Amino acid sequence: MALRIIRELGDPVLGKRAKEVREMTPKLRQLIEDMKETMYDSDGVGLAAPQVGMLKRIVVIDVSAEQDQPLVLINPEIIEKDGEQTGWEGCLSVPGKSGQVTRPKHVVAKAYNENMEEYTIEGEDLLARAICHELDHLDGHMYVELVEGRLYTNEELDAMMAEEEAAAEKEAEEKA
Ligand SMILES: [Zn+2]
Repeated sequence: MALRIIRELGDPVLGKRAKEVREMTPKLRQLIEDMKETMYDSDGVGLAAPQVGMLKRIVVIDVSAEQDQPLVLINPEIIEKDGEQTGWEGCLSVPGKSGQVTRPKHVVAKAYNENMEEYTIEGEDLLARAICHELDHLDGHMYVELVEGRLYTNEELDAMMAEEEAAAEKEAEEKA
């Protein structure tokens, strides 16, 4: 296994449509293992093959707290979506930044696993957000195109969170 270099916003490969996977090969298996390792190493919850410079329709996602439940989605397609959620979103290809994005609250997707067996996956909240975000990468789209308002740096975000926490504490005190 090896870490791959994550391409960043502005790299032309991130604007291209990735191609369908027709059959699993040792090279693609290696790519998938490397993508998982690269995602975990960067503390991400998802990574799409174009982000490591490979124009293949392959995505890895792990939204579990222990980061030990990797999902592999090959040639994924969203077949159902409903509801709405607005929240902070970031991307390993846009390091240190976040923005508010509205996504479906619930999605159902079909995809193939590493053995090219078709399966269906249902996601809510963070998983729904991750599936939508990663699938966009396969069509050359980035979340920054969908951001409401502007991008915030992680420092700004931390300061905002701290302020909100302080306000909540103050309110709790006043009620006490
Ligand atoms: Zn991304």
